[in-house]
Amino acid sequence: MEELEFLRRQLKENLERVQERIEKALFRAGRKSGSVRLLGASKKQSPEKIRILYELGVRLFGENYVQEGEKKIEVLKDLFIEWHFIGRLQTNKVKKALKIFQVIETLDRIELAEEIEKRAKALNLKIPVFIEINIGKEKSKAGILPEELKSFSEKIASYSHLVVKGLMCLPPFEKDPERVRPYFAKMRALFEEVKPLFGEYFTELSMGTSEDFEVAIEEGATIVRLGTLLFGKRE
Ligand SMILES: *Cc1c(COP(=O)(O)O)cnc(C)c1O
Repeated sequence: MEELEFLRRQLKENLERVQERIEKALFRAGRKSGSVRLLGASKKQSPEKIRILYELGVRLFGENYVQEGEKKIEVLKDLFIEWHFIGRLQTNKVKKALKIFQVIETLDRIELAEEIEKRAKALNLKIPVFIEINIGKEKSKAGILPEELKSFSEKIASYSHLVVKGLMCLPPFEKDPERVRPYFAKMRALFEEVKPLFGEYFTELSMGTSEDFEVAIEEGATIVRLGTLLFGKRE
């Protein structure tokens, strides 16, 4: 009991500090208070911590693995959480993923778009997705290359069971977050470039982690995905 109280106090402090930093970044950028959503990146974090953060007001969480997510989502099904998938999605996991996640943030290749379209059609659902961009053109990372976004977007714009709601990225790691700024700025430019293809529902820019979320907000992020800063170290 005491341990749980300690955990609660710690998470509350983390959340308050993060919220303050988010608000300050919004203010610096001349953006409206509350115009960015906080996503708890909960991979390798316990359902207990997620529940506490939910009670403290966080409503949006993201998982990287279908199997790990499935277990937690089941345990937490009494809560009104919006679950996003933010990891690499294998096509053979799409069917399961569509049952438990409300948004797929990591649409990173045409075969995945085809599979989601097919499964969503069978379920008679429209699935919100974000296109993942490999903004730093890193070999180790997934995502559509910036120069291929336009043709990729044109292809999937005709898929009637996908609702493309935005873009997502995980830029190269830099010790100094200022060095990540050009990648975030480029994301914003790409967002504006393809927006006409997707229309009114295309509103989200999911970018920024514990390392660089303030810079991401200054460059237009609408969702920041925080793991360690919010939850503490992963298990
Ligand atoms: C783990 C993860 C995050 C959060 O990273 P932290 O550095 O712990 O804040 C954000 N986005 C994705 C895609 C992740 O896998």
